[in-house]
Amino acid sequence: MFIQERLETPIRGEYDAIVVGAGPAGCGAAIALGRAGMKTLLIEKFNCLGGAWTTGFMNPFFDYNNKSGIVNELVTALKERGQFGGFWDRSFNYEYMKHILEQKMTEAGVEVLYNTTFSRTLAEGNRVYGIVAENIGGRFAAMAKTVVDCTGDGNVAAAAGCPFELGVDGDYRECQAMTLMFLVGNIPEAYRDGLMLFEKLNAAYNKAGKEIPFRVPYLIPVPNSHFGVVQFTHMYEHDPLDAQALTRATMEGRQQLIDAFEFLTRYDPDFKDLELITSSSVLGVRESRRIIGEYYLTEEDILSGARFEDAVAHVTFGADLHTKSNKGQHCFKVQPYHIPLRALVPKGYKGILVAGRCISGSREAMASYRVTGNCAQMGENAGRYLAESIRTGTDILEVKLPTELLLPQ
Ligand SMILES: Cc1cc2nc3c(=O)[nH]c(=O)nc-3n(C[C@H](O)[C@H](O)[C@H](O)COP(=O)(O)OP(=O)(O)OC[C@H]3O[C@@H](n4cnc5c(N)ncnc54)[C@H](O)[C@@H]3O)c2cc1C
Repeated sequence: MFIQERLETPIRGEYDAIVVGAGPAGCGAAIALGRAGMKTLLIEKFNCLGGAWTTGFMNPFFDYNNKSGIVNELVTALKERGQFGGFWDRSFNYEYMKHILEQKMTEAGVEVLYNTTFSRTLAEGNRVYGIVAENIGGRFAAMAKTVVDCTGDGNVAAAAGCPFELGVDGDYRECQAMTLMFLVGNIPEAYRDGLMLFEKLNAAYNKAGKEIPFRVPYLIPVPNSHFGVVQFTHMYEHDPLDAQALTRATMEGRQQLIDAFEFLTRYDPDFKDLELITSSSVLGVRESRRIIGEYYLTEEDILSGARFEDAVAHVTFGADLHTKSNKGQHCFKVQPYHIPLRALVPKGYKGILVAGRCISGSREAMASYRVTGNCAQMGENAGRYLAESIRTGTDILEVKLPTELLLPQ
């Protein structure tokens, strides 16, 4: 059953670029575009910048230490304020991350719209020329020379009809587990550098007569504080593209975190005074759409250290798949490799790029490049390519930029 709607949608404006989603990839892209003098609109459905970094209570900041550009700027700014370090020398304070990103976005002259949700693409055939979005003011359209999909889930590209992969041969049950992160306070002094929580949690679960849902949990303190985030809950076989399944996964996650908190405080004297602060308002989805691009990054590429002339990111982080089979992680090392711009260009489409975890690659490759240092770097360099393409009126696939400038080692 369908209803037919007749809508008159006001046009908000025309932009060089519209970036949808303000996670690490979207922030990198928007800042680079703004700095290059491009008229840029960034829309975000929540009320801050950072995506999983901030709304998802994600920590620590992986694959940052070989990076220049925005990644290095963020880490430097966080360190200057005493808000970076601690756990594996890469944990950060969420509120400072939001604030520093807002400062950089403002300095770059990017127009930011919070509480604004993308709803559809405007396209003629395979050429995207704008979006429709909604917020408190209603629906609006905005036109752009290029739309950059940084939604994590590839929502914009999918709405434009770009082909994508999901799980194994479309089976979402093979996607990595989802996690609802939660904050705890009053962490005992002895554990303020962080802790692999398995032994303690497993013992508490045993005492409670329950089976632990995940075998590699971590307590990750935020620097210079008594609080931190627990990476523990694991929800398997939920469809990341179905709102009802995401709701079920969220509720399952909340049950798991309440159990974990109650068992730990009840059965482990070290944690008797631990406080439960809150869970993130966004469910952590590790894996969903992978948009098919002009290049498809393979497991062989990441194992052999592939290099590309159009490189936009230099990845050193190993693959990390959160699998149901072992209720743990399947990890393997990679040979440091490049991501080419072509993996960010949906195959056969114009006027649209993707950046972040939804780019074109296999599940195994994604399990390595998905971490935030890589998403931010590829977003930033995609923004640089796009700005040059717009400035010179050249198709983005024809633009040449020196790798040593984008990825100085
Ligand atoms: C549980 C979990 C733990 C992780 N742990 C780590 C870790 O320790 N270290 C690490 O570096 N990485 C970690 N990762 C990986 C990393 O967080 C993500 O892969 C990364 O954030 C992806 O970046 P992104 O910019 O592509 O997407 P996201 O960070 O997901 O950002 C996407 C943004 O788009 C917005 N958006 C989505 N749809 C719309 C829409 N329709 N309209 C408007 N806005 C929209 C979202 O609100 C969000 O702000 C973890 C991931 C998960 C799920």
